[in-house]
Amino acid sequence: MENKNTLDQYASGKLEQLTRSGLRRFLVPTSREKKGTAGRGGRSFVSFSCNDYLGLSQNPQIKAAAAEALMEFGAGAGASRLVTGNSPIYRRLEESLARIKSTEGAVVFGSGYLANLGVIPVFVGSRDLCLVDELAHSSMHAGIKASGAQVILFAHNDLDDCRQKLSRQRAKYQHCMILSEGVFSMDGDRAPLIGLSDLADEFDSWLFIDDAHGFGVLGDGAGSVVEAGMAGRVHLQMGTLSKSVGSYGGFLCGSGPVCDLLVNRARSLIYETGLPPASLAASLAALDFIETHPSIVARPLKLARRFTQELALPMAQSAIVPFIIGSPQAALAASSQLEALGFLITAIRPPTVPEGTARLRFTFCANHTDEDVSRLIKSMQGLGFTG
Ligand SMILES: *Cc1c(COP(=O)(O)O)cnc(C)c1O
Repeated sequence: MENKNTLDQYASGKLEQLTRSGLRRFLVPTSREKKGTAGRGGRSFVSFSCNDYLGLSQNPQIKAAAAEALMEFGAGAGASRLVTGNSPIYRRLEESLARIKSTEGAVVFGSGYLANLGVIPVFVGSRDLCLVDELAHSSMHAGIKASGAQVILFAHNDLDDCRQKLSRQRAKYQHCMILSEGVFSMDGDRAPLIGLSDLADEFDSWLFIDDAHGFGVLGDGAGSVVEAGMAGRVHLQMGTLSKSVGSYGGFLCGSGPVCDLLVNRARSLIYETGLPPASLAASLAALDFIETHPSIVARPLKLARRFTQELALPMAQSAIVPFIIGSPQAALAASSQLEALGFLITAIRPPTVPEGTARLRFTFCANHTDEDVSRLIKSMQGLGFTG
């Protein structure tokens, strides 16, 4: 009987540690509303914490496309894509993605996380090396860990450090993959794609770019890789349908053989039920929207730039702007101060970001009004939060 509580004791002890260090997390019921607002505890806030950069999760035409697919094909896929879960919408969605990304093919996964978890082990294993930017997203690390490849971090966006590690280590391994993010999710800055691609060529390595936050925002919506003219040189272009696309799912764009091998080998595709048809139809309609509304696609970056300029912060390179505070407690306090003024800006704390760099992370969306951004800027100035 004594033993019965040890699991609860373990959990409670861990939770107490988290509370003491200001790192405890809570799920807060939040209903997302129209025009970039969110409801919490009976109040409505302007949210600068959503990744729904174009507001497409609330777009009436896109919701209608999802509802139509729901009624026609049902609520769920019923099986893995390789069994009977491959709704006819998948093909059209993958053709659209490949066209937008300028690749031969695309493969849609259950989410961005599942894409990273499934794709990486298809191409590298225990005799191989993964060289990863130190700020790369947790989901890439999950994929690398599942692959069994040796992992070496290089300093954030530091091509010299990456080169040094390649010269020292590359020869010891059979294959090598270099992994980074097109737009860094917590910093909003961008990878040096040309430099990384040159290193990949020089050291006979494959380049994997996670562009979860560039897709739908940069390069007329095609993302940071296409914007840089690098579609032919980045071997594996990963992205998500859950952010600017406003729906749910993830994808990998690459050559025909790469995509065919993924369908045969990626465990997170083979052993997982296909996406609900409504999600696929919403994604397809959203891609159509992105291709036909360049001025809406350009708006998040425009708003982010205005925000950084007026607060004398480093110029925004994407829709994401970090405001580094330092300690987790101070970041939580800053978030509460802004909440009292009607803004929802989540404090981002370790281990999501490195120790000592807890921050407010602002994301700008096309459905924020100019007035929303003006009020936010004035509020930041009033609190002394400037560059
Ligand atoms: C959000 C995110 C993912 C995961 O995508 P989901 O579709 O939410 O699972 C992967 N990589 C990066 C960089 C992200 O920001």
